[in-house]
Amino acid sequence: MNKMQDWINREAQVCAANYHPLSVVLEKGEGVWVWDILGNRYLDMMSAYSAVSHGHANPQLLKVLSEQAARLSVPSRAFHSQALLPFLEKLCHLAGLDMALPMNTGAEAIETALKAARRWGYEKKGIPSNVAEIIVAQDNFHGRTISIISFSTDDGYRSGFGPFTPGFKVVPFGDATAIEQAITPNTCAVLLEPMQGEAGIKIPPAGFLKAVSGLCQKKNVLLILDEIQTGLGRTGKMFAFQHEGVQPDAIVVGKALGGGLLPVSAFVARRDVMSVFNPGSHGSTFGGNALASAVGLEALRLLESDGLVERSADLGERLLKGLKEIQSPLVKDVRGKGLWVGLEIDTQKISARTVCEALMHQGILSKEAHDTVIRFAPPLVIQESEIDWAIEKIKDALTTCL
Ligand code: PLP
Repeated sequence: MNKMQDWINREAQVCAANYHPLSVVLEKGEGVWVWDILGNRYLDMMSAYSAVSHGHANPQLLKVLSEQAARLSVPSRAFHSQALLPFLEKLCHLAGLDMALPMNTGAEAIETALKAARRWGYEKKGIPSNVAEIIVAQDNFHGRTISIISFSTDDGYRSGFGPFTPGFKVVPFGDATAIEQAITPNTCAVLLEPMQGEAGIKIPPAGFLKAVSGLCQKKNVLLILDEIQTGLGRTGKMFAFQHEGVQPDAIVVGKALGGGLLPVSAFVARRDVMSVFNPGSHGSTFGGNALASAVGLEALRLLESDGLVERSADLGERLLKGLKEIQSPLVKDVRGKGLWVGLEIDTQKISARTVCEALMHQGILSKEAHDTVIRFAPPLVIQESEIDWAIEKIKDALTTCL
């Protein structure tokens, strides 16, 4: 048995089977490239579900990480730490919002948003106790906690995990009229991904967010956007809501905020929304720690100083165009924004998983979303020539699948 398969078999003995990884064992990453334990090199077009936008082992982020780690890492928020302020100032400024509550993972920051929305509903909007409603979209993905999967529409995420948290209403994604009809006097918030990621890179009709934003203002309902995957340049703007020129009342960010090195997330909101939190009402031992803050700040700075958002817009167009030009009976659709492109496979003919395996043999790593769509979301530091190389390899992989 080869070394890689042996490793995979041993891991299966001790690691929960809650993922179905491709059969590759990675040991090293640099920029857009990763290497397996046999020395094979792959272009990472997955970027850890868009968390590695700055590239693997980004030298500037490593420098900041090691300097801060040597100085102060985890003081907890029992005390103030110097690193937190500049990080949150920068984040609020970029988001066009007033205050931030730092957490670690995306799911935790979404939980924070749900708590903020409910309290705001009771304290500021005057909703009677314990009946606040939050409107969400069909096929949403916001994380894996019990409350979050309570409003998932994917049975794979929910099965066997009930009873679920009440207080959520699900409407079709991209349908502003359905949101309008779902709003009641007890609605405190609408929570949406501006473009759905795990559902298979789904982009709503133009004007959707603008319409929802107008509705929310009119009805005194918070618009909270989950920018965990779409934010920080991934779709060619700093935040996906900027494609529609709207200003949400709050956003949730994560993934690339940690520079591909640490889990760093945050709920960012208007002052009157964030002011519902008082000491003891929410918290996290690691949230907002000095190490995470220093890395988070540098991750934000690099997006600007290295022009990563503009790169995402420009190179994303190149990737989208190149993939659209591929003539293959296996491809049903190609769609995306920025360096975030989904290739929908005709699963009557072949599984997306089989195509991902063929891509791996061509030196490209990616993963299917919802069994049908292969995402191409490389680090934003990718070069033009690497995009062109990837397009050729994707073409070759599809040919080998025929
Ligand atoms: N929200 C969105 C839009 C996501 O894509 C994800 C992760 O894929 C999450 C939330 C959950 O983030 P985490 O896995 O860090 O909890």
